[in-house]
Amino acid sequence: MNQPIQDLELVSVTKRYGNTIAVDAINHHFRPASYTCLLGPSGCGKSSTLRMIAGHESVSDGAINLAGRDISHLPPARRGTAMMFQSYALFPHLSVTDNVAFSLKMKGVDVGERRNKAHEMLELVDLSAMAQRLPDQLSGGQQQRVALARALITRPQVLLLDEPLSALDPFLRIRMRGELRKLQRELGISFIHVTHGQDEALALADEIVVMNNAVIEQAGPARDVFNAPRTRFVAQFMGGHNVVALPEGHFAIRTDAVGVGAPGSGIAASVTGIEYQGTHVSVLARIAGDQEVTALVPDTEFFSSPRSPGDPVGLVWDARNLHKLTA
Ligand code: ADP
Ligand code: MG
Repeated sequence: MNQPIQDLELVSVTKRYGNTIAVDAINHHFRPASYTCLLGPSGCGKSSTLRMIAGHESVSDGAINLAGRDISHLPPARRGTAMMFQSYALFPHLSVTDNVAFSLKMKGVDVGERRNKAHEMLELVDLSAMAQRLPDQLSGGQQQRVALARALITRPQVLLLDEPLSALDPFLRIRMRGELRKLQRELGISFIHVTHGQDEALALADEIVVMNNAVIEQAGPARDVFNAPRTRFVAQFMGGHNVVALPEGHFAIRTDAVGVGAPGSGIAASVTGIEYQGTHVSVLARIAGDQEVTALVPDTEFFSSPRSPGDPVGLVWDARNLHKLTA
């Protein structure tokens, strides 16, 4: 049976630990059945936010509404949310099946039914063949899928994932993020995924919520956040942008929107560094006011007129690619 689509809303949610304000009166409406990434540097309040939604941490102030009712005082198991932890926290002495079925056992579901449900979940994450193994007989990626099945067996409306890929090597991380995305689409529920990696957020998210210092700096569709950062922090944290101070104010401009021309064209600059990046070459140049600007130049274009540190150049850009920053 399909569950009705549920909206999750944070209303002025605050978390204090003693004198530390970890989350400062944040508001956000998570779109139903979407993949949202909470993105920000270490210590900005991402995990605290996620744990309050899950019910593993109390809310100091504010409300968390799911489908119109405040769930912030309910115990975790009664919220309609489920959490997958950073360390998968599997029980080492239980088989894969029994790990996945554990929450049903706690609810008093009989052994036959809970094993059936566990097998359904294992099929979903493509692990049926490993059902009898112990966690330490699995690879990191397989353990992660067990943890995922264990969270999904409770049929949550919202799945919460705290840095779920951080323990995996880079190759596996890219494969698993594809699987997470596919699973979210198949299940049609909301995933809220905490990460400090902007490439991970861009690859996965319908919507990115950028946090900094306990507040939301910017939220929106991944492409909007990347292409039109509102603040210096977002521009710098998302990467791929220059922040430049011009007489009219501070602006962000994508590094691939800056061209390197002959001296005399555009804005006078002097090359200070060159980095080969395979498909592109990153050219670092200094302009007036001691400002460093990066131009990401396609490799064939760069090597048709190579530059070296010390060379005078002219930087060119289309003014339409400048985005004014508000802070
Ligand atoms: P993130 O997940 O973005 O790294 P956290 O939500 O874990 O950030 O932490 C936000 C802030 O709250 C940090 O300053 C952190 O030190 C503090 N903090 C987190 N958990 C606790 C706790 N249990 N007790 C006291 N301070 C905490
Ligand atoms: Mg964290």
